[in-house]
Amino acid sequence: MRINEIHIYQKELLLNQPYSMAGTVLHALDSSIVKLVCDNGLVGWGETCPVGPTYQPEHALGARAALTQMAPAIIGAPALSPLLLRRRMDASLNGHNQAKAAIDIAVMDLIGKFLKLRVCDLLGGAIIESVPSYFAIGIASPEDSAKQAKEKMAQGYPRLQIKCGGRSIDEDIAVIHKIWETVGNKVRLAIDANRSLNSRDTLLLSLACRQIPIVIEQPCNTMEEIASIRAQLHHPVYLDENTENLNDVLRAISLGICDGFGLKLTRLGGLNAFTTVRDICAARSLPHSCDDASGGDIVAAACVHAGATVDPALLEGVWIGAPYYTEHYDPENGIRIENGHINLPALPGLGISPDESKIGNLAASFD
Ligand SMILES: [Mg+2]
Repeated sequence: MRINEIHIYQKELLLNQPYSMAGTVLHALDSSIVKLVCDNGLVGWGETCPVGPTYQPEHALGARAALTQMAPAIIGAPALSPLLLRRRMDASLNGHNQAKAAIDIAVMDLIGKFLKLRVCDLLGGAIIESVPSYFAIGIASPEDSAKQAKEKMAQGYPRLQIKCGGRSIDEDIAVIHKIWETVGNKVRLAIDANRSLNSRDTLLLSLACRQIPIVIEQPCNTMEEIASIRAQLHHPVYLDENTENLNDVLRAISLGICDGFGLKLTRLGGLNAFTTVRDICAARSLPHSCDDASGGDIVAAACVHAGATVDPALLEGVWIGAPYYTEHYDPENGIRIENGHINLPALPGLGISPDESKIGNLAASFD
């Protein structure tokens, strides 16, 4: 079974509410969807969707350019050999993990359909059939943030992430205290500064919230800044944006500068790269999420399958974009959150079948 065709689509995902993080407010997302067609007619779906152009070094236009660059190396490749395919992609283009991830996800979808196995089974097997999710509360006032926290806790989310940064650190501290007063320890809390705090403000925040059990996610821009203040913090620290590849994860662990990770599937290179990081984290008992920066049903399905294979004691949850958009590529089997959790799809492969009228405009085709 060989890959005969690649079709790349551009999909604008309109958000039903603004998504705000430090210094950025997004109203729509630019997703790239990949359809692989094999010589026997079998179809596999992949997707990659950065949360705007400033979240990480890669962006949406770059993803489609990278897919175009790699297409000649992918056409004719054996569809049941994801490692060989990864080597063909690496031999044709340096970096661009997020684009390679879309192909990796599509190939795993193909393999699952061919073998009549779910993607989670290809990744080692699902430990749980319903994965916990978490909700990210955007930058808002203390009162609005606490109101949202109460609502989301009532909806069943076991964990909340509070965005901070891009404003006075006093406002961020006030938000954390107000949320803690409102929900207490009935829900696990993390704050995420998305690289926006300097080391001084990170220290001030940790000191002012030292009685509140929160994880501080990606406070500063670089690993070096975080390393410089690590010993003075009162809270666990997770890295997110700094882990752009497997080597970054290894570097962070070997430097001992974090207690866990916010992991992004496509930033690491896809499902197979994620399982490597999953197993390294397990070897060091490091908790982590299993998310992507954003995306529709295809990325969400990939995250849920991967998340179901993580030791539940180490799984910080699977964030998906679904609460922010109403349109599903697969209206019937699209990935949804219920009671703060997401059920694993039951069908082979990713378990979703995108309606081709809902996946945007064809950007390029190769055969
Ligand atoms: Mg994060």
